[in-house]
Amino acid sequence: MTPITIAIDGFSSTGKSTLAKQLAKYLGYVYVDTGAMYRAVTLFAMQNGLVSETHLDQLGLIKNLPSIKLHFVYNSALGFAEMFLNNVNVENEIRTIDVSRLVSKIAEISEVRSKLVEQQQQMGLKKAIVMDGRDIGTVVFPDAELKLFMTASPHTRAMRRYDELIEKGQKVTYEEVLQNVQERDYIDTHREDSPLVKATDAIEIDNSTLTKEEQFALVLDLIDKFYN
Ligand code: C5P
Repeated sequence: MTPITIAIDGFSSTGKSTLAKQLAKYLGYVYVDTGAMYRAVTLFAMQNGLVSETHLDQLGLIKNLPSIKLHFVYNSALGFAEMFLNNVNVENEIRTIDVSRLVSKIAEISEVRSKLVEQQQQMGLKKAIVMDGRDIGTVVFPDAELKLFMTASPHTRAMRRYDELIEKGQKVTYEEVLQNVQERDYIDTHREDSPLVKATDAIEIDNSTLTKEEQFALVLDLIDKFYN
């Protein structure tokens, strides 16, 4: 089967990465979590005192962009690629609520976006890729053969994210997580550069009442239709 590009966009915690991992495994494709890249840049900014709840040194971060090296390393035990920031595995650190609180501020910066988009486009040159994020079907791969746009109710999404964080041993409340999900949605959909919007040719999936298995079956059906 000719390899294709699958772009998955949508709101925070809509299960994009779960679906993307299932698809990549099934099709033998590469999976790229672009949110991890924005999170790693945010972690860099936090580590270097360039961003906090109360300040953002945008120029300082832009000046430092050339020294931020991001790459993914596939971990066969986990079944997905882990994020490395300047050769350090930051997979766990980038998933904390502290990073989640600041990431959308960093993702608004055009210079950050163009650096990451360029790297993402390079990764997709050979197709056979499933990439998830906010601007994959609109900006990164506007010609992707299959574009999905995922939604679910804020409550469903916050509950899923809350369960994930608690399972990882993080101390958070449901209210904090819900507030973070809603704040990120707002910034992501209102920013000037590459806001989160559904591509006109994307297929919308509301998975509020779908199990992972039902959702996967639905998407496999779409892929079958594409080839037949
Ligand atoms: O996907 P995840 O929730 O990990 O993404 C974290 C944040 O990174 C998003 O809320 C958004 O601000 C930013 N992001 C983005 N464009 C992408 C992927 C993520 O702006 N393609």
